[in-house]
Amino acid sequence: MSDTTIGMADLYGQYLKIKEEVDALTAEVVRRAAFIDGPAVERFAGELSDFVGVRHTIPCGNGTDALILALMAVGISPGDEVIVPAFSYAATAEAVALLGGTVAMADVDARTFHLDPASVERLVTPRTKAVVPVHLFGSVCDMEPIMRIASERHLYVVEDNAQSLGAVYTFSDGTSKQAGGIGHIGCTSFFPTKNLGCFGDGGAVFTDDDALARKIRLLARHGQRVRYRHEIVGFNSRLDSIQAAVLSAKLPHLDEYIRTRRSIALRYRDALGDVEGIELPVETPFSTHTYHQYTLKVAHGRRDELKRKLEAAGVSSAIYYPLPLYRQPAYGGSCRCDASMRTAGRLSECVLSIPVHTELTTAQTDRVIESIKHSLK
Ligand SMILES: *Cc1c(COP(=O)(O)O)cnc(C)c1O
Repeated sequence: MSDTTIGMADLYGQYLKIKEEVDALTAEVVRRAAFIDGPAVERFAGELSDFVGVRHTIPCGNGTDALILALMAVGISPGDEVIVPAFSYAATAEAVALLGGTVAMADVDARTFHLDPASVERLVTPRTKAVVPVHLFGSVCDMEPIMRIASERHLYVVEDNAQSLGAVYTFSDGTSKQAGGIGHIGCTSFFPTKNLGCFGDGGAVFTDDDALARKIRLLARHGQRVRYRHEIVGFNSRLDSIQAAVLSAKLPHLDEYIRTRRSIALRYRDALGDVEGIELPVETPFSTHTYHQYTLKVAHGRRDELKRKLEAAGVSSAIYYPLPLYRQPAYGGSCRCDASMRTAGRLSECVLSIPVHTELTTAQTDRVIESIKHSLK
């Protein structure tokens, strides 16, 4: 990557703009030497609960741990089935498989990339215990039908909100909720490039349910409420105090980060709406879009060629995700798939995410636009 290449993120540039806040809060952690579970972690958990609108935020080691903790808390064990979308990052299925559960893969909607409620309905059996909607690429799944199916079939809903922190879902009665605060449990990741990223690994679990929150806290602390008294088998998954301090400095900027990405998305829409050979991401009436990714669908067979041409023009792009989960060696053999699956595999062949990040300038955005137009001529 040359100096003039437009990247998928500019984390150092983002840091420089809030350097004073980040440096002050992280220095305070170092000064107190409260590196594990210090006041910085408690403070951030409180701030995030207010932001998401939930009673409990349990910070943990990363987004994958958040999913594992959530599924452990609802008791997923061998024999149980958990429905996940076939088009997602592998962590969603991995958490289920690690606990010995059976992964049931549902298809996704071709326009939104999200879990298709009809496919979920086809997959439910008496062994199904939970469904994990993934708010992929920055907007919220259509949660109302998913919550309805879950309530009728007595399933837990665990939201994988690693990519859409800050997105808002509006129900048909006009009320709205933050992504991650809708299901029984919500999970998120603070991986550096996520909507709210720290300077390493981090994650959190959200819930309004006091009993589930107690269980999740216990599981993340070796099963101990009181030190050296281990009530259940747990493990160790903590958010470092330093990372919590970084996140406290960044959280007040999250809405502004989202606005910036939205304005880039708007510019892409205006300039690329009529370009032949690509389809732009859609917005749904029920969710705001945080544009965690700006993901194009490229006409049949032309995706890899577009990626190569962009690279030659100094524009980064990425394929999220090149394989549907049922074609991954780790999951293909053991999962149960919706027999009418048709979209997840097709999406893997045509998706291409282009740069959309908080430090992308208007000039760079225009260069991405021109490069795409030129490449597709
Ligand atoms: C990033 C991500 C995760 C995992 O988060 P980590 O913090 O990297 O463990 C899980 N699910 C989705 C959809 C993600 O994008």
